[in-house]
Amino acid sequence: MTDRYAVFGHPIAHSKSPQIHAAFARQTGEDVVYEAILAPLDGFADSVAQFIATGGRGANVTVPFKEEAFKLAKRLSPRAQRAGAVNTLSFDADGILGDNTDGAGLVADLTRNLNQTLGGRRILLLGAGGAARGVIEPLLDQQPAALVLANRTVSRAQELAELFGHGITACSFEAADAPFDVVINATAASLAGELPPLSPRIFTDNTLAYDMMYGRDTPFLSFARTHGAAASDGLGMLVEQAAEAFYVWRGVRPETTAVIAALRQDRLESERLASPRGLRT
Ligand code: NDP
Repeated sequence: MTDRYAVFGHPIAHSKSPQIHAAFARQTGEDVVYEAILAPLDGFADSVAQFIATGGRGANVTVPFKEEAFKLAKRLSPRAQRAGAVNTLSFDADGILGDNTDGAGLVADLTRNLNQTLGGRRILLLGAGGAARGVIEPLLDQQPAALVLANRTVSRAQELAELFGHGITACSFEAADAPFDVVINATAASLAGELPPLSPRIFTDNTLAYDMMYGRDTPFLSFARTHGAAASDGLGMLVEQAAEAFYVWRGVRPETTAVIAALRQDRLESERLASPRGLRT
């Protein structure tokens, strides 16, 4: 019988996860279906319970339910426990197991797809929400020379710095004023088309600016490019965290390069069709 998986979020219509997991299933021959489920803002736990009752085997969780998923899980992987947020659920006879694959996804994209060495480098992480929490420990595992957390609400960055221990400093956006090798935007500012108040001095010709947001160019990426940095969106992270979730559920690791390339091609095609020039041709 085909095994059922899903992604829960609110909103969810924009999600590329069903397309990504369908590609993984075709590639690996695993007998799975994967759907997107819009959970009511006050009904996440009920939606998950209903999915389990109708045969669901596992689920991804996206905005705004990652912290609720953390509370819902009866057991947690060590990385989810430390992140305090869950993006991957597995359902079995022992109940709900919570995991977090965001950090593994980011590190895989930076190191494998974008050829970045993180060991010994200076990393600036913008944001202190669920996405930032999930990636701090995997970034520290790479042994950077420095990891600086900058956030609009500085106290939230300070809390995370204390939680994850030495090696991290916390500050405001404005106070981050020296060059970094990698600058990761894990704020939700790009979702609103906004740019945090960043100093241009954080970017050099050797900086990689990485926005976790994907699907369109962002003010953060264009600001970084203007100041000499190379720029990447978070599409690779999305695919890599999905591959890690697929591995958690199925014990099979899908190949990601072709899936990322196909999604990028789709985006170029829809931009071409949406432009006045594209409509004429
Ligand atoms: P949260 O709501 O948990 O956190 C939001 C963070 O952004 C907080 O640090 C908040 O600061 C900050 N913020 C919000 N608005 C602004 C603004 N206008 N200017 C500056 N800072 C702002 O969101 P998540 O952490 O879950 O998600 C953050 C982003 O990462 C989203 O764009 C999400 O789509 C993306 N993401 C991408 C993934 C991928 O696979 N590519 C995976 C996970 C997330 P404050 O504390 O002051 O409120």
